Amino acid sequence: MSDIDIRITGRAGRITLTRPKALNAMTYDMCLAIEAALDRWRFDNAVQVVVFDAEGDKAFCAGGDIADLYATGTAGDFAFGQKFWADEYRLNNKIFEYPKPVVSFLQGFTMGGGVGIGCHGSHRVVGDSSRISMPECGIGLVPDVGGTLMLALAPGRLGEYLGLTAARMEAGDALHAGFADHYIPEADWPALIGQLEETGDAGLIDAAARPAPESKLAALAEPIDRLFAGEALSDILTILRGDDSDFAAGALKAMARNAPLSMACTVDILHRLRGPSVTLGKALDLEYRFTYRAMEKGDFLEGIRAAIIDKDRSPNWQYAQGDVPAVAVSAMLRPLGNAALNLTEGGSGMKIGFIGLGNMGAPMAANLVAAGHAVTGFDTADIAVDGVAKAATAAEAATGQDVVITMLPNGTILRAVADQIIPEMSAGAALVDCSTVDVDSARAVADQAAAAGLLSVDAPVSGGIGGAAAGTLTFMAGGSDDAFAKAAPLFDIMGQKAVHCGGPGAGQAAKICNNMILGITMIGTCEAFALADKLGLDRQKMFDVVSTSSGYSWTMNAYCPAPGVGPQSPADNGYQPGFAADLMLKDLRLSQQAAEAADADTPMGEAATELYRRFVEDEDGAGRDFSAMLPRFETRGRD
Ligand code: NAD
Repeated sequence: MSDIDIRITGRAGRITLTRPKALNAMTYDMCLAIEAALDRWRFDNAVQVVVFDAEGDKAFCAGGDIADLYATGTAGDFAFGQKFWADEYRLNNKIFEYPKPVVSFLQGFTMGGGVGIGCHGSHRVVGDSSRISMPECGIGLVPDVGGTLMLALAPGRLGEYLGLTAARMEAGDALHAGFADHYIPEADWPALIGQLEETGDAGLIDAAARPAPESKLAALAEPIDRLFAGEALSDILTILRGDDSDFAAGALKAMARNAPLSMACTVDILHRLRGPSVTLGKALDLEYRFTYRAMEKGDFLEGIRAAIIDKDRSPNWQYAQGDVPAVAVSAMLRPLGNAALNLTEGGSGMKIGFIGLGNMGAPMAANLVAAGHAVTGFDTADIAVDGVAKAATAAEAATGQDVVITMLPNGTILRAVADQIIPEMSAGAALVDCSTVDVDSARAVADQAAAAGLLSVDAPVSGGIGGAAAGTLTFMAGGSDDAFAKAAPLFDIMGQKAVHCGGPGAGQAAKICNNMILGITMIGTCEAFALADKLGLDRQKMFDVVSTSSGYSWTMNAYCPAPGVGPQSPADNGYQPGFAADLMLKDLRLSQQAAEAADADTPMGEAATELYRRFVEDEDGAGRDFSAMLPRFETRGRD
């Protein structure tokens, strides 16, 4: 292929981009050719190091060749672009995970698709001409090819700044932001490449590296962190507009060129990625959710038209600056189900047993199926979940699986199920309990699993049935680093955040504290509505005020107990659970049991436990959603 020269020279697998007139922009064929070479060289002992470079002094690679994407997209064929991006992202991941050193020499422009092949290897070399940037928001995309991983990990709010303004990083900046590892003057590169070919020794790069040049961006850390700290794009714009510095004005000018929907989604992606379980796979998965929809629902085709086809530079974006509704962001970034990015080719997912397919378990199992995993389920009630193979017993569901997930009502049942399944599980497999149970049961099951050579994590969740269905749960996990690492890719599918809280039982401890707050705030929210009724206050007005005032909470804003007010919740469904009052009582009792054992003073937790006890055991609360406290309070007076 004339656009790329792939060969073995000495001990190096050599990949040279040879389209200098097109600034070495990546075509689909180049992407597939690189992947095929990496696959061949993976087990070829002749290749000890892979070296990427490019012809010409203007660019290593100025991005992806988007002409074909535009032509097919405007003809209504979105599948070509979706496949292009999926294959490109798989290549980016392959470079990141490659078992041999991958060295890249990044002269001139390295942008977009160039970052995808040049900035995921083990040795990323920059020189004085290097200019690295992620300008995708300007054409209605989000920073992709795994670039959001580096942006999310860059110091402070530098990632937001780079993603939203497309600012160019010079050598020192790229080292500071984590897009490069080594500064070596470009005059030294040809001889160094010759030595790499001769020896196959990537250690030569470390030896040749010179001290990093100064980073102008590092010097701007204070204004960047202050001005780009907002929760959403609109907050960032508000802060920038309120600042009279030249720097803020320059940033606003750069952002004015970009698609607002793309920028809002970029901020959301970076915020979702920050956290202990960030991986390149997760970054690519989120990026792909956007790019998959970019032609049909985003501003991509309009962005290309304005920048490259008509060159009028006046794109007609869907939304105005600062005016992107949160629902538009979540619509672009919600999980793709069967179409989700598959980095393993051919869909070879994990084998998973799922025990307990109730209100929470069923949608969680469905999300795992949608992501390409083979799920076998069991529940004592006869529950069918699309795509989940049915086992006749818990033991059968656990046999031969890579991971077994349990989502059960309580610790007693968990211990009984653990007795049945642990003997059937293969050594090295992981038992992931997502139920809410007492810390003692969690630790007992972890000990039993460890004795059988299994990994185990207690990983209760927050987010309710809505979060289970949408794949946006929060997991709070307790267990070893290895166990957490094994479960993390599954947490990424079923949730948007997983916090490794500590050793066995730590997840349950976090959950118990969280739910004590939840029980207390639900009661508070219900009593306040009942009081408001008696004061003649309209419920909608009450919601409008409290949901944006200091009394706001998850129980008010996301799970409002008043029917017809706020987002859809069990109150709109006759208080069918949702999250049953019985389960809330269980959690509150767990909190009091734990408080007793730890000698902690929890008077509000104690009062909430007693109220839910009366509600479930003496009144009509059993089997109803825990928000049915509101009709309970409605009818009562002060006695
Ligand atoms: P659920 O009652 O709807 O589901 C539990 C399922 O387990 C039921 O389908 C039941 O038939 C099954 N089961 C019981 N014994 C079993 C056994 N021996 N073998 C196999 N299956 C068995 O409850 P849920 O709402 O899905 O909650 C499950 C867990 O998640 C609980 O620990 C709960 O505290 C926790 N949780 C629930 C929510 C929520 O909003 N519902 C939120 C966070 C955490």
